[in-house]
Amino acid sequence: MPKEEKNSDSGEKVFDSIVGEFFFGKVEENNCFPFPHFSEEQKELGKEMLGAVSKFATDNIDSEKMDIESVIPKEVLQGLAELGLFGLGVPEEAGGLNLDHTLYARVFQEVCSFDGAVATTLGAHQSIGFKALLNEGNQEQKDKWLPRLATGEVMAAFCLTEPGSGSDAYSIKTKAIDNGDGTYTINGQKLWITNGGSAGFYSVFCKTDHEVDGEKHEKISCFIVEKDMEGVSFGEKEDKMGIRASETRAVYFDNVVVPKENIIGELGKGFKIAMNVLNSGRLSLGSGCVGGMKTILKMATDHAHNRKQFNKRLTEFGLVQEKLTMMAAYCYAAESMVYMTTGSMVKGMNDYQLESAICKVFSSEALWKVVDQGLQIAAGCGYMKEYPYERLMRDARINLIFEGTNEILRCFVALAGIRGPSENLAKLGKVADVSKALQDPVKSLGVLVNFSTDRISKLLGGTNLTKVHPRLSDFSNHFSEMLSEFALQVDRTLLKYKKSIVDFESPQGRLANMAIEIYLNLSVLSRSTSILESESIDDEMKEYIYNLTVYICNESRYRFISELKGMTKNLDEQVQKVSDKICEMGGYGLDIVDY
Ligand SMILES: Cc1cc2nc3c(=O)[nH]c(=O)nc-3n(C[C@H](O)[C@H](O)[C@H](O)COP(=O)(O)OP(=O)(O)OC[C@H]3O[C@@H](n4cnc5c(N)ncnc54)[C@H](O)[C@@H]3O)c2cc1C
Repeated sequence: MPKEEKNSDSGEKVFDSIVGEFFFGKVEENNCFPFPHFSEEQKELGKEMLGAVSKFATDNIDSEKMDIESVIPKEVLQGLAELGLFGLGVPEEAGGLNLDHTLYARVFQEVCSFDGAVATTLGAHQSIGFKALLNEGNQEQKDKWLPRLATGEVMAAFCLTEPGSGSDAYSIKTKAIDNGDGTYTINGQKLWITNGGSAGFYSVFCKTDHEVDGEKHEKISCFIVEKDMEGVSFGEKEDKMGIRASETRAVYFDNVVVPKENIIGELGKGFKIAMNVLNSGRLSLGSGCVGGMKTILKMATDHAHNRKQFNKRLTEFGLVQEKLTMMAAYCYAAESMVYMTTGSMVKGMNDYQLESAICKVFSSEALWKVVDQGLQIAAGCGYMKEYPYERLMRDARINLIFEGTNEILRCFVALAGIRGPSENLAKLGKVADVSKALQDPVKSLGVLVNFSTDRISKLLGGTNLTKVHPRLSDFSNHFSEMLSEFALQVDRTLLKYKKSIVDFESPQGRLANMAIEIYLNLSVLSRSTSILESESIDDEMKEYIYNLTVYICNESRYRFISELKGMTKNLDEQVQKVSDKICEMGGYGLDIVDY
């Protein structure tokens, strides 16, 4: 629900998640229209920065060499530091550039359009490495560390993953024990830590002991560990499939004594701190994927234009045209969602965990499809190491894995999203009681009247978008239908599964996919409306945007309808049975000789 009483840093009203409202069948149009485009000030600063990044990268970044040698040369890191790229979001007084969310994302996108390994290194440093310090650190800690982190004198790393704890981050075992003398001793190991070894500053998530109601409990806390503290050591540099020049190592903590002054935020609140860090990290990952898509589309377009077969340019063949259009569509959709999110954050959206998860999932999968189609257009050339496609494909793959796998994030979007409506249903008599009420309607008439009024209003249609450009009005109607269908499915799912929904991932995945498509439609319609209404954009470009929007919104609707149908008619039972049998047999279990 919109909170009207507070103002954001930019002076605008603070409001909660846009996507969170979808789960109630609502959208606050004023928060999404007009599209939060770059202000004149942002444009000016952005163009200056992007020009500098682009020039530096063109002159100095040799991705092929870095991929082969698996290292980013010191001079490149030094040059990036001189451009201020190690402190994009750090306040100016601490030596940073103090970019807002939108500019941060756009600059990050530019870096990623040149090289994924460099972007990963910079992202691990500031999007996650010292983000906990920036978000939760006290003034003393910030004064001590931020100036050196912002200039790149010291690199940072984010240490959460362990050998036994990947997606299940709460199950970490690294332990920090209170010595009772103002210090803690840390023991444990962290796995696959980006910038591990080269970083001087480590945000390390550890279990700590807490007494709650006389009982001992373990919680998670965040500690700053310095590279040269006694007992800190590193594994060998990992030999990776992609982003090979970024450094990834295990980090070991053997009786590392850390002063309590190095605790970031409140003791025992480390899990929330880690999740908040990852929320913002996922956004720059999303914008980075947009940078990657633009690079690949440019290369594939050049290839398709220059290569002739059957006496025609590849661009003249319908099946190649489909690929180019699809690639541009994914790029425009992802870009619209990412900048709708960052722009809304600048405007005052204070809860963006659903949006950032959606941007990460959609953009990383979009990039993967785009790199696949780009390679297909280049065909034999695409497969050869002489061309960059195969490296870009290897580099792109990681985005679906780190900063929360896309499976985990889909579950997260669904479960975090339905929390709101489940509370609403609880107010009407708890989710369980609503279903009881349905069994005994007379006794619980009051509950049912309220509940069905709400349902009827959803059935009659979700919130209409009134600000969409008239040429796109069909899609505004589709949006409204999708929104109401979605909210109904949320209610139905809650009533059907009740609390056990947490154990049913297939409906969770479908709800998440539907939420993604709705956010995509909203972001694209808002952005395209701004473009179509603009007096400074020429008609030819408007026509391109119009056709792209028609393509994107139609494709998105097909995907939405397919997910919607899956809510009632699906193969979940077969999936579970086949999967169980595969596991029982230890694999496929068939040989053509016998079967
Ligand atoms: C190059 C690289 C750099 C990295 N950098 C860092 C870093 O800087 N800091 C850091 O802390 N970590 C880092 N990581 C670790 C990364 O975040 C983890 O790999 C990721 O969280 C997944 O954990 P896992 O690999 O152990 O997979 P697992 O958790 O074992 O998951 C395996 C598969 O099962 C799926 N799965 C697991 N649980 C569920 C579930 N409940 N429902 C459905 N599917 C599920 C997953 O989605 C995945 O497909 C990095 C990893 C790599 C490869």
